[in-house]
Amino acid sequence: MLYAQVETGKGYIAKIEKESFVDGEGVRCSVYVSGCPFACEGCYNKAAQNFTYGTQYSETTLETILDYCEPEYISGLSILGGEPFCNMDIVLPLIEAFRARFQHSKSIWVWSGFMYENLKENTKQRKKALSMIDVLVDGPFVQSLYQPGLAFKGSYNQRVIDVQASLKTHSIRTLEV
Ligand code: SF4
Repeated sequence: MLYAQVETGKGYIAKIEKESFVDGEGVRCSVYVSGCPFACEGCYNKAAQNFTYGTQYSETTLETILDYCEPEYISGLSILGGEPFCNMDIVLPLIEAFRARFQHSKSIWVWSGFMYENLKENTKQRKKALSMIDVLVDGPFVQSLYQPGLAFKGSYNQRVIDVQASLKTHSIRTLEV
């Protein structure tokens, strides 16, 4: 299966964590979408590689997620997987609805097996989603580059990218974490 052919996803999510303390800075609502074609050895969430794992997503799910993000102590929304950029039918409307409700008062972090450089030159939907997020933790998990205790990532090759600064300067800007 070619990665580029898997864009929309099948509309399933593995889980929602109403209050997560590890998926980015601050207390965040985390959404794990289902389906990932990368099949990294040592994947932290192997069950969610399946595109129909978990429960079906709906308009009600979207509203629930936004409501979970509402309290002042919630810093923002984190989207993980599975592969968010292979679930555009869920992820793009979710990002748009989040921005419409909270503007930039809260942040959006996304974890992806794609590299930033690839997403920047990708399909219209993927480029749009990228342009609306704050932080991208990019690249596949590489077992041989695993290090315990890395902030917000599992293996050394992955980068915690400040997306807005990177787009603006046309160069990769990583966050000091
Ligand atoms: S990209 Fe992430 S979810 Fe997909 S197989 Fe690799 S570690 Fe698992």
